[in-house]
Amino acid sequence: MSTEKKITIATSWLDGCSGCHMSFLDIDERLLELAELAEFVYSPLVDAKQLPESVDVGILEGAVSTEDDLHKALLFRKHCQYLISLGDCAVCGNVPAMRNFFPLDAVLDRAYQENVQLNPQRPTLNVPRLLDPVRPLHAVVPVDLFVPGCPPSADAIWYVASELIAGRTPDPSQVTRFGA
Ligand code: SF4
Repeated sequence: MSTEKKITIATSWLDGCSGCHMSFLDIDERLLELAELAEFVYSPLVDAKQLPESVDVGILEGAVSTEDDLHKALLFRKHCQYLISLGDCAVCGNVPAMRNFFPLDAVLDRAYQENVQLNPQRPTLNVPRLLDPVRPLHAVVPVDLFVPGCPPSADAIWYVASELIAGRTPDPSQVTRFGA
């Protein structure tokens, strides 16, 4: 990866709580340093909402729970040279995958009918179809780097980003662990 020009970074979330992205923001003043070295070309954190044809580093948070998640995972894999699975939901399914213990129909009934007082019904419009089972990111596309944690710490994210920018392959096992 060239260090002569800014590397391009795209991020997005699948089925997650956005906590991994919040941890990214927690690198605080180091964001200014990052902005000198890298350009966010697509992310919920910036205005750009069109994934470019070619991106140096893609970062995905969250598990693959819906058809939309699957589509986005495939899109990132296609357009990103290097793909990072960020956080326990992406790495191993974590909280979203807890529904795998129950039949999908039972999950939908619980959410949309049993616990609803007014007009209980399953949504049919503008809601992506749920996949069964929920899967971690690497179960649907090849992943280049796993960064576990719920969320990974800001220091761990900064370590990974700065190593990649320096042209080195980070070893997140030294700075991360599963869970909080
Ligand atoms: S790994 Fe934790 S912080 Fe990150 S999206 Fe999942 S639940 Fe949220």
